[in-house]
Amino acid sequence: MSQILKNKISLSGLSKEEIAQFITEELKWEKFRIEQIHSWIYAKSSGDFNTWSDLSADKREVLAEKFSIPLIQTKERQISQKDKTEKYLFSLPDDQLVESVLMRFKDRDSLTACISSQVGCAVGCPFCATGKLGFKRNLMASEIVDQVMAMQRISGEKIHNLVFMGQGEPLNNLDNIIKSIQIFRESVGIGVRHITVSTSGIVPKIIELGETKIQINLAISLHSAKQELREKLVPVARRWNLFDLMQALKVYFDQTGRRITFEYTMLKDINDTNEDARALCDLVRDLPFPCLINLIPYNSTDSEFQCSDRSRIQHFKSIVERSGRKATVRVTLGSDISGACGQLANKNS
Ligand code: SF4
Repeated sequence: MSQILKNKISLSGLSKEEIAQFITEELKWEKFRIEQIHSWIYAKSSGDFNTWSDLSADKREVLAEKFSIPLIQTKERQISQKDKTEKYLFSLPDDQLVESVLMRFKDRDSLTACISSQVGCAVGCPFCATGKLGFKRNLMASEIVDQVMAMQRISGEKIHNLVFMGQGEPLNNLDNIIKSIQIFRESVGIGVRHITVSTSGIVPKIIELGETKIQINLAISLHSAKQELREKLVPVARRWNLFDLMQALKVYFDQTGRRITFEYTMLKDINDTNEDARALCDLVRDLPFPCLINLIPYNSTDSEFQCSDRSRIQHFKSIVERSGRKATVRVTLGSDISGACGQLANKNS
């Protein structure tokens, strides 16, 4: 049920129900303590028991003996000179590392956090720095939640939007993703419509996610509308082809009523020709659900891939829009600190 850290249970990342269980069943404390402790963890985001002033010194001592907070430790925080994006390197209780990014968009007041769902990733997209790390393990729900809590605590700012676009394939860790979303909604105060989950296209899990009817935003890492090329760029496409994927998205839409976003990373001379754009038009034109195409300028990693030229991206966009679907070009943030999409590689600076 909870993360055990050096014989202590982590408090951060527990649901209210779990906190209640510890307080009333294990510690046998009064019920009103549940609200107090929940508030210290989430609303006040305090990682130090000594500051929990409405609890007596004895009670704080009991908590410190049995529990730990926070669960993850911040190893490094880098701030972009260009756009104030913040990249965090966290170490987990078993000394594995993950990265998270805090983004400030010019057209929004609210902060967006990009968080990780796994240590490494098994999908192995060739243009992605995380894919090169290989898969180590799934993150616990508490480790997912604690990334946000740590960034709020350190930056001193409230996070309003979340994207599961950091390290890992979220749908390969679906149970923990769903549990963390519940905690974000119930305890951290981030509404589900402000949460985006991105997937490479794990078809059975898309259906399972749809069955929950959770009103999150779903983004699909498409990267090509040509089956053969997509299999090279997103290796899970060998298992679930474009037809299977579109069928699953139709089922997902029927369950949730939510628009789908297709993410398309623009790779120079790989997937950015007029023919590629027309293939994308053909794919999305008659889909029986609403969708948005988000073109992502590629951020360089240690790979042979390069970003398409700006003019090429704009031309590609204009062709895609002829399908009648809306297309946007994603703003790149944090590229000078390797905090942009696809660049997360757990490297200390
Ligand atoms: S792009 Fe996403 S799914 Fe592909 S290897 Fe990277 S983290 Fe995994």
